[in-house]
Amino acid sequence: MLLYPDFYFNNIREIKLEFLQTHNIKGLILDVDNTLIDYDKKLEEGTEQWVQELKKAGIKFCIVSNTNKRDKVKQVANTLDIPYFYFAKKPLKKGFMDAKKKLDLKAENIAAIGDQIMTDVIGANRCKMYSILVKPIAEKDIFITRIKRPIENKIIKSYLKKVEKEKV
Ligand SMILES: [Mg+2]
Repeated sequence: MLLYPDFYFNNIREIKLEFLQTHNIKGLILDVDNTLIDYDKKLEEGTEQWVQELKKAGIKFCIVSNTNKRDKVKQVANTLDIPYFYFAKKPLKKGFMDAKKKLDLKAENIAAIGDQIMTDVIGANRCKMYSILVKPIAEKDIFITRIKRPIENKIIKSYLKKVEKEKV
């Protein structure tokens, strides 16, 4: 299902090394807005440590952001010391494929993490990568995102229902 994420977490720091190893995930593509930073461009506490620890374990990272604000993305990328692509036009494949090249991994060994179904999840699914949805850091989002949320929430609800059903 193109609209459903493969996995759903409360935040990126809940994604542990053991989980990645279980699914043979060796590289992570990260969204920026509301996944790594809040509306005030602040990284969430513990995020830097999360990245560094996974890096030490050999996990590769690349940022793919839809924003056209290069400075904002660059600052986050520099802080975390990972490569980045901005103005990526997700869910188009290009940004994901650029990142895949940078990571030098197969799609099946990559997971893309983001807070939006319409961009992050659909894009990752189209590229046959794992898609991981996280809850948005702040709901104070830009206008366009606010429009999309009701639809997103509906999809998430039906997704969670499906996951619950499969557990039984
Ligand atoms: Mg986002």
